[in-house]
Amino acid sequence: MKIHNYNQCATRLSRRDFLYLSGIGTVALLSGCAVHPVTGRRQLMLMSEDQEIRLDRENSPHQISADYGLVQDQALNDYISGVGRQIAGQSHRPDMPYSFNTLNASYVNAYAFPGGTIGLTRGILLDLENEAELASLIGHEVGHVSARHTAQRMTRGLLAAAVFSGAAVAAGPELQNVVAGLGGIGAGALLASYSRNQEREADELGLDYMAGSGYNPQGFVGLMEMLMDMSGRDKGHLAVLFATHPMSSERYQTALIRADAERALRDQPVYRERYMDNISGLRRIEEAIRQLQEGDDQMMDGNPVNARKNYDRALVIVPDDYAANLKQAKCLLALNQGREAEIHALAAREAYPDEPQAVHVLGMIHLNRNSFDQALTHFEAYNTQLPGNPNNVFFRGYCLEGMGRRDRAAGKYYAYLQHVSSGDYARHAHARLQEWGYI
Ligand SMILES: [Zn+2]
Repeated sequence: MKIHNYNQCATRLSRRDFLYLSGIGTVALLSGCAVHPVTGRRQLMLMSEDQEIRLDRENSPHQISADYGLVQDQALNDYISGVGRQIAGQSHRPDMPYSFNTLNASYVNAYAFPGGTIGLTRGILLDLENEAELASLIGHEVGHVSARHTAQRMTRGLLAAAVFSGAAVAAGPELQNVVAGLGGIGAGALLASYSRNQEREADELGLDYMAGSGYNPQGFVGLMEMLMDMSGRDKGHLAVLFATHPMSSERYQTALIRADAERALRDQPVYRERYMDNISGLRRIEEAIRQLQEGDDQMMDGNPVNARKNYDRALVIVPDDYAANLKQAKCLLALNQGREAEIHALAAREAYPDEPQAVHVLGMIHLNRNSFDQALTHFEAYNTQLPGNPNNVFFRGYCLEGMGRRDRAAGKYYAYLQHVSSGDYARHAHARLQEWGYI
């Protein structure tokens, strides 16, 4: 019977899947059929649990760093982790190596990597109104992990190979931006765009897990209302959330009906005060976060002049904030004000020495001045602090090229192309290797 099922699965392996999988080379076809942890049904799954965990460990640190690292507020981190662990304990995969990370990023987002690394931004925490909503949001993300949604999408060839290799999650980096000193370090994002069916399933599981933890299902309704309300707004700082977790009135209605059926817990508290107490550090600087969001929207609209004003206003409130300083540094670099950019990048590095993105931006500031050797020193320091980012390999190659060290530059470009095959960086690397006669 098993063999029969396996064959059924195998025949569903399309030529496209096969080419895709052979292309990246790391995913063994041997994983084959797997029992789905939620439905108990067998399904084609070309990624084993070990591979999910490995992909997570290779990629999530880069995403977390691109999101300005964990908030420097241990009590807040502990609180979010505590709620997260409770929810994960109710899930279909309680033994995954979950971690619940409260991130300094100000855009509104929550995400899950396939091994259980979950991220929640300062932006989204400020929009939640109580702990039951928080539990629902975490439940939804744990739902994606439990139902193995990233592995499913990878199996179906719906994720580009570049996604798994440290390429940027945002709009593709432009080479002219490298020259302008703006190239992003990118994020090794497995931030898959889930399908509507997967969203529905994650909602269903999220509600089960939060209710299983004893929370009032009204929290789930509150979360859905918040998302429904936001999904109508065309704001850059909301875009990633809805690009990855599609919202719809159908999803909203389905959640309402399901939550309504959970009658037993309706008298449970939603823990509004407890939530507000625990995020009081964030609430105190809410105006600064809103200014950062507005500044990010302006940057995404191509208006660094306006963004600078927002970042300035944020910095009046939080002069030592790592993310605020680093965003301002990037904005000033876009305005070609390298000296002032450097002041903010140095302030950021001092504010959070464990987070390497400031070191990357310092490298970019030097690159912008054509100080290739100093830029290289920073990119090397970055790589020591957080190894494994292909974009960093490209930037080191770019510095070496600027220094006239062709052989070493070629080595870096070649290494970069082993990970990333499209985009402006790849085109640049390929063109140089050709020009120099290496390929
Ligand atoms: Zn989702």
